[in-house]
Amino acid sequence: MKELIVSKVFSHGIAIGPVFLVPEEYTTVSDAKAETEAKIESEIQRFETAAEKVAQDLSLLAQNNKIFAGHVSIIKDFTLHDAVKHKIREQHINAEQASEASIEELRCIFQSMDDPYMKERAADITDVGDQLLACLQNRCADKFAALKTPSVIIARNLVPSDTARLNQDLVLGFITEEGGVTSHVSIMAKSLNIPALVGATGILDLVKEDSHVVMDAGTGEIYVDPEPDFAKNFSAKKKKLEEENAAYLADAGLPTVTKDNRQLKVYANVGSLKDIEQAVSLRVDGVGLFRTEFLYMENSHFPTEEEQFEVYRKAVETLGHEIIIRTLDIGGDKELSYFQFKPEQNPFLGLRAIRFCLKNPDIFRTQIRAILRASHYGPLRIMLPMLISLEEAESALELIRQVKQELTREQIPFDDKIQVGMMMETPAAVFCADEFAQMMDFFSIGTNDLTQYTLAVDRGNQEIRDLYDPFYPAVIRAISHIIKAGHKAGIEVGMCGEFAGDRRSTKLLLGLGLDEFSMSASDTPRIKAALRSMNYNDEQKHAQEILQLRHAKEIKSALDN
Ligand code: PEP
Ligand code: MG
Repeated sequence: MKELIVSKVFSHGIAIGPVFLVPEEYTTVSDAKAETEAKIESEIQRFETAAEKVAQDLSLLAQNNKIFAGHVSIIKDFTLHDAVKHKIREQHINAEQASEASIEELRCIFQSMDDPYMKERAADITDVGDQLLACLQNRCADKFAALKTPSVIIARNLVPSDTARLNQDLVLGFITEEGGVTSHVSIMAKSLNIPALVGATGILDLVKEDSHVVMDAGTGEIYVDPEPDFAKNFSAKKKKLEEENAAYLADAGLPTVTKDNRQLKVYANVGSLKDIEQAVSLRVDGVGLFRTEFLYMENSHFPTEEEQFEVYRKAVETLGHEIIIRTLDIGGDKELSYFQFKPEQNPFLGLRAIRFCLKNPDIFRTQIRAILRASHYGPLRIMLPMLISLEEAESALELIRQVKQELTREQIPFDDKIQVGMMMETPAAVFCADEFAQMMDFFSIGTNDLTQYTLAVDRGNQEIRDLYDPFYPAVIRAISHIIKAGHKAGIEVGMCGEFAGDRRSTKLLLGLGLDEFSMSASDTPRIKAALRSMNYNDEQKHAQEILQLRHAKEIKSALDN
């Protein structure tokens, strides 16, 4: 048996089964020359026909999955078309050679970008290039034609068109050698609830065609060709996990009330309409964070008011419960293919979130109009990300007030009482929590950034991964301070950072008085069950003891006990 531990863990679930190794198919490109004028024209025509066919295929996929909107724009991009035609004309090469070279140039540009999101878009370009070449060579682009039995899919990298064409009934799990947690395959796997481990460096050297694997996506463990007894133990673990999950799910629709009658909200974090559907199936009571940036990132242009309105309206109508919509949190590690950000030394400290929106009021206004219009169709709230000052809060609230006036003048209906709150994710917001609480209708603690900014530890830097720990007393005390400030002003305090779904933190957050816990939808049934088994009074006392502890390790062990 061989063992591999993956450090980038982002999903849950255990998969056991045979391996399906995704073929790294490559057919040699012919080096036939296009010497004559007639041959040149016929190669250009061949390229155009193939590009048109691939664009049609991708547009079909894009109808069910927005991720492919980006692919469609790549294959239609006139700079790509110009580059290919130029190469055929000037270098007298054929359509395959010219396409391969032009795609590679484009891929290198994206690959060399510092931003991890843009870097990962290089995989989309390779995907489009593979399909273009397959079409030019009359090959089948389906790498999964040989997949007939349920298997753990192992690949160097998976691109969206691979996953979109996959028969999900045959997928037990995904393991990829490359890729990061913001790659599309990660996002898709999470929303399909399939165990996935990405960035499993070395996995392709460990497995063979006839290997079997055991993977635990919650712990990052992968075992290749395990002994029968070992695999049997894991099967038992998997069965237990599934039984527990089924039991939690059966109770998911019950109210979340502690033993001593404290009523709590357990909400889901979502990024798309697909996630909303998953949230419905898991019977969540609401959405505590709608990350609207995915709507912008998966598009080829800033989504219009109408496009956004349709998404927000459909989201709230589908869910039938309250949704907290976070206004655009772009910048940092999230960029847009159609907007040129100036290079920044510290993007996470740069033009991000509310800063970007206040600098680009037209973009902000469009989103606020769309949210307000959708608020007529169901309970919505607006949440502002990354505030550091009262001035920012005042400017944002003023813009919302103006948009409301506009809509009233235009006689467009909206919820005039819509609540406006903010993410508490910067130390500046923590220190001014009392003042912010006077202006806002609610707080939601964003522990992903609060941890990064409080500890001055980059949340994406693997080198200092051990330091990125929300259990440090500094972060725990900041959380406690925010909850107290919110409650003193009589407003609700929620949490939508990953810490809210961390099973070790539930007791502590309950004891500190958190009102709303928002997390990945698949975690909600379990956290609801945990909260129902707890006693608020007991945990309040326990939390006060924990606040006195001086080390993260002590805090964790106090919670484990
Ligand atoms: C957070 O910072 O905790 C948060 C929820 O926002 P994001 O992870 O999108 O920055
Ligand atoms: Mg954040």
